[in-house]
Amino acid sequence: MTDKQMEVKFLGVRGSYNLSNTQSVKYGGNTSCIQIIIEDQIIFLDAGSGITKVEKPFNDFDIHILFTHYHWDHVLGLPFFSTLYAKNDKVHVKGMKPEHYSLKEVLRLLFNPPFCPIMWSKVQDKLDIEEIPEYGTFYIKNIKVETILLMHPGGALGYKITYNGISIVLLTDIELSKAFSSYESEREKLLKFVKDVDVLVMDAALTNEEYYGAVGSNKIGWGHSTMEECILLSEDAGVKKTYITHYLPYREDLQNDALEKDIKAKHPTVFLAKEDESLIFRACRS
Ligand SMILES: [Zn+2]
Repeated sequence: MTDKQMEVKFLGVRGSYNLSNTQSVKYGGNTSCIQIIIEDQIIFLDAGSGITKVEKPFNDFDIHILFTHYHWDHVLGLPFFSTLYAKNDKVHVKGMKPEHYSLKEVLRLLFNPPFCPIMWSKVQDKLDIEEIPEYGTFYIKNIKVETILLMHPGGALGYKITYNGISIVLLTDIELSKAFSSYESEREKLLKFVKDVDVLVMDAALTNEEYYGAVGSNKIGWGHSTMEECILLSEDAGVKKTYITHYLPYREDLQNDALEKDIKAKHPTVFLAKEDESLIFRACRS
């Protein structure tokens, strides 16, 4: 009998920009970052402000940052990621080639005055930077990582991480929507990618009413999915547990609580992700 585990922690689940008020404590105000610990490997999916909460140098671990894309809410924590400065070894950074730039050029833009007092020259030797394909597979030791291109302005990468039979998929940011003619083909592609996974974490920032403009202006083309599309995808694909993420900044705790209550009444395996929530998945194979 082996007992291997994947530890998943939501460090930031807010989308677009940070939020700090007493009505948003439960779901949190930090932007996108998920920490995954497997054996002696730590993978951060994105480096939004959530990554700034990591205080340990983790010298006994290899550190990886996998970027979904380079909008501010997914990168702004990198200059303030203390592990980067405290750790002896390089931090391995991967992501797709950004529009008009190389990945290295985009990371350099996050440093240097007038936007940041930390000089890129102080940081660049600490990073091992690699551009990865939009559709591909690579390994971090015995952890399999697969990528998929998502519908989002400028594109974004979805990730599937599989270890010892445990699988987690992150789809953010993504606009899976019937408003686009590519809907059926996009959905088909995603269904295969998330088929039977243990955990799906998906950007489903909006309700149907918000997205299609029954409440306020419509949000078509903003790059984010509805909760309804997320649940449909997750159930059709046989996902075991689904966590909705990337809440828009105006969504406060009471609103999220009400949405989660409604959703869970019909879909008990769908949750709204909360900042600092930890999940442990064990694979027991006899
Ligand atoms: Zn985002």
